[in-house]
Amino acid sequence: MEVPSDRKPKHHQEFNSLAITDLSPSTSSPTFPPVVTASFAADNSGVSQLRLRQPESGGEAICFGLRNSQLFNLGPLETLVVVEESGNSETAKESSSFSKAFKLEFTTLYQQKAFYAAFERLKHGVSITQNGPLKNGSITSQKSKFDNKIEASSAKMYFHYYGQLLHQQNMLQDYVRTGTYYSAVIENCIDFQGRVVVDVGAGSGILSLFAAQAGAKHVYAVEASEMAEFATRLIAGNESLRHLITVIKGKVEDVELPEKADILISEPMGTLLVNERMLETYVIARDRFLVPGGKMFPSIGRIHMAPFSDEYLFVEIANKALFWQQRNFYGVDLTPLYGSAFQGYFSQPVVDAFDPRILVSPPSSHSLDFNSIKEEDLYEIDIPLSFIAAVGTRVHGLACWFDVLFNGSSVQRWLTTAPGSPTTHWYQMRCVLSQPLYVMAGQEITGKLHLVAHSAQSYTINLTVSAKMWGPGADQGGIIQTSTGKLELKEPYYRLSQPQPYMPSAQDQLLHQHYITPQVLPSLSHNFFRVHLVG
Ligand code: SAH
Repeated sequence: MEVPSDRKPKHHQEFNSLAITDLSPSTSSPTFPPVVTASFAADNSGVSQLRLRQPESGGEAICFGLRNSQLFNLGPLETLVVVEESGNSETAKESSSFSKAFKLEFTTLYQQKAFYAAFERLKHGVSITQNGPLKNGSITSQKSKFDNKIEASSAKMYFHYYGQLLHQQNMLQDYVRTGTYYSAVIENCIDFQGRVVVDVGAGSGILSLFAAQAGAKHVYAVEASEMAEFATRLIAGNESLRHLITVIKGKVEDVELPEKADILISEPMGTLLVNERMLETYVIARDRFLVPGGKMFPSIGRIHMAPFSDEYLFVEIANKALFWQQRNFYGVDLTPLYGSAFQGYFSQPVVDAFDPRILVSPPSSHSLDFNSIKEEDLYEIDIPLSFIAAVGTRVHGLACWFDVLFNGSSVQRWLTTAPGSPTTHWYQMRCVLSQPLYVMAGQEITGKLHLVAHSAQSYTINLTVSAKMWGPGADQGGIIQTSTGKLELKEPYYRLSQPQPYMPSAQDQLLHQHYITPQVLPSLSHNFFRVHLVG
């Protein structure tokens, strides 16, 4: 299902209320009324023409042969029509032998697209999809926002990944994720009933189907990967809902929709909430498609952070580099690369589930309000850190997780990925410091988590953690220990195949019945945008 047939431009469709400006170089060109109705027709010999006429007066039509005409999209709502010089005029009314140019201003983007589609179809005898690329002879003043900031190679791999059913299945089988979305939508059906919905990055189309079940008037499911074809098939196979959903294949940043949305639904979260940089897409969808004051599902995301102590994990990572301390590896001294290997292992964020008792202090959080945040605010995220150690211990780094809020009119629901809560396919993430810090109970731990977005759809993480001076001299504000780390969010260490440091006792198991032990181990391929869910 691409565009419902009743919305497809018809062959002789009229385009009303177009403001027109004559830009012709020649004074002999016809003068236009300020507002025209445009239509396409064929003359007696079957040659396709563009006709412009004054609507009220029913004024005489001015006609141009399409064969000699070209369209240039000047930007949103503005299209330039150029009629090339022709000694042999092919239409009755076109008597001038000079080029003509006029600018048409459309009332909606959809009208502009439909005009373009009708023009190209009649000129070339081809049918282009609503979201197909513009053909030769047309220019776009706006290059895609997505293509401008994301490397083509990264995007190719990314959409290839999401184009595969197995990865969609992995997300669908995350019961906490899919079940929370389902509950949030169905319990808040009041927010969906009779509303126009856009599903931002629809994947298999599951959230569109939920929205349709909740009573949406119409859902536009926008999906850039090949999964759009599967979503179309899945939706077509659900007879009671299929007339309510239109799948649009394309990037959220590029596609045009025929109407504005009352509500957006999306699942744009990656590791540490921001990995994949899809939150930016969600925000762009808000600015492009959502009516002012429209709802976003979810509407808020929070990154939670706390220092942790995990000697076993630290030793495990430090030991990985020991390989490079060999002085006689087949007669070769490997030690020149030891330092780099050591730094390399500590630059990988560790993704796994851990027991919350390794946390050294209560967590702090940083909120992102999807209703108001600007896309550019996500390019660089600066999070100040401040904790009070609850115990004396060695701090090995910063543990992070996230949650998102569905702020429904009936029920508010949080989808959480917190340690100690039922495990999701995001697990949790830890930044391990190569230089651990010693802290005493009550000591203040400060620092900064600084995230910088890059063109490979992820972030560079700069972490600074300091333990403030304790006891005499603390008043002077001196800092005794600081440890820093630079990590690459795109290259995590999926630690799920490793033994977990914490084996819960029978009593703990009762307390943490939701703590799931991995059974199926994920591959360690760097191609994983999300971690494979266990079991
Ligand atoms: N909504 C589905 C899929 C979520 S995964 C579900 O909840 O199960 C995110 C999906 O968004 C992927 O299928 C990915 O291909 C798509 N996506 C990511 N960025 C996009 C963009 N800029 N335009 C369109 N689709 C995008």
